[in-house]
Amino acid sequence: MSAAPADFTRAGYRALLQALLERGYEARRFRDAGPERPHLILRHDVDLWPEIVGEMARIEADLGLTAVYFFLTDSPLYAIDAPETRAVFEELAALGHEVGLHFDAAAHPDEAAALDRAAADACRRLEAASGQSVETVSFHRPARALLGRAEPIAGRLHAYQPRFFEDMDYCSDSRGAWRRGHPLARRSVREGRALQLLTHPIWWVHDDAGDAEAALARLIAAKGAALKPAVAETVTGYDPATGRILGRIQGPIQGPIQD
Ligand SMILES: [Zn+2]
Repeated sequence: MSAAPADFTRAGYRALLQALLERGYEARRFRDAGPERPHLILRHDVDLWPEIVGEMARIEADLGLTAVYFFLTDSPLYAIDAPETRAVFEELAALGHEVGLHFDAAAHPDEAAALDRAAADACRRLEAASGQSVETVSFHRPARALLGRAEPIAGRLHAYQPRFFEDMDYCSDSRGAWRRGHPLARRSVREGRALQLLTHPIWWVHDDAGDAEAALARLIAAKGAALKPAVAETVTGYDPATGRILGRIQGPIQGPIQD
């Protein structure tokens, strides 16, 4: 019997999804997921590199699963109305995946009505670019006050509402590591309860097996060194001078992760 493929590779992603399917999990959209059910929300925050997400999307579609891909509307790293991003939107739609808004609340006034208006405006722009109606929002590097925020935003569900973040289990691959433990080892999965699984395509699609610095070096090689300051704004600890990730925590930690 061959060894299981490494995490943070394409084969590892496929194997993880297959293992969840074998445990009876079904992929659901946020609106259709029940905390006590074996429901799997496959969430991807597209922080850095939209053109590579098709690799994940095709693996999911091949297994009959649908996911939600969250895009920033005002990223210094990509534009939602660029031809290459529009091609990504078209492929996601063709494979049955959802497009959601990845929203940087810190870029807007910390006042509820103003934040709501800014999110609504970003949703409209993303809808125009993607051709999909946006029904879900995920916060980019959320402040603690937004984790567990009960209210919707801009009339949409968001990924840190208590239903999705407390009633359901939540697991993320921050900077190419399972800092809150491996998904298959979680009590929720052992008990067949719902899981919101956040993965960032950049850590998986080039088979870097958790070497986050190598993954970011690929992005810089593809797009140019001028992107380094913007990567530093997006990836906590990234040092533009050396390409290293400083202060990266390798072991598991407790409590919410801000990503
Ligand atoms: Zn983000």
